[in-house]
Amino acid sequence: MAEKVDILAIGAHPDDVELSAGGTILKSVAQGKKVAIVDLTEGELGSRGTVRSRYEEAANAAQILGVEHRENIRLADGFFTEDRDSLVRLIKAIRHYQPEIVLANAVEDRHPDHGRGSSFISRACFLSGLLKIETSRNGEDQEKWRPKVVYHYIQDRYIKPDIIIDVSEFREKKMDAILAYETQFYKEGAKGPKTPISGKDFIAFLEARMRQVGRDIGAEFGEGFTVERPIGVDDLTTLI
Ligand SMILES: [Zn+2]
Repeated sequence: MAEKVDILAIGAHPDDVELSAGGTILKSVAQGKKVAIVDLTEGELGSRGTVRSRYEEAANAAQILGVEHRENIRLADGFFTEDRDSLVRLIKAIRHYQPEIVLANAVEDRHPDHGRGSSFISRACFLSGLLKIETSRNGEDQEKWRPKVVYHYIQDRYIKPDIIIDVSEFREKKMDAILAYETQFYKEGAKGPKTPISGKDFIAFLEARMRQVGRDIGAEFGEGFTVERPIGVDDLTTLI
């Protein structure tokens, strides 16, 4: 049986979604929307932590965000490609959650998995709508499903957003969800090799980015997204 949600947030690594769209997810959940998360890889190449610790951290973060479901389709961190088997794994998840909106990785970024994840997710969303790709999950045949839109969040490198969500009210809780990844981000006294995201400066950067993006819409903190195609509206006044 499908477990329909309004928004499916997908990321190449566990924590991508929290870092870039955590506030939007919290806000959507607070508005009564159902949200699920799919992680493409287990982040097994990360310099800090283990696959096991990242599963625990991802589960804790999901609980803080209030999402309905979180699953990992276990593609290879650093090496996943747009091959048929990998795409079908994500298609099965998309057909299971039947989202209207998909949130996907940034179209290009410092980490090459992010740009590749972006194109992988967009392609799977399209293919998921094709009748002749037959899939089943837990022994049940699945219906085709194409999300109405795919929005790409913004990660390390700055990309000018097309849509900005005011997440001011959810800044603190978003940081709690991020810091649930205890092995990845700054924690007083934590051990492990230094990475571009493990220092105190990265937390300051995240807050600065939210401030920078929020400022464009007159909000204290914001999260930005890019669109794949123009958004159609019936009534111009609904946009203000
Ligand atoms: Zn990542």
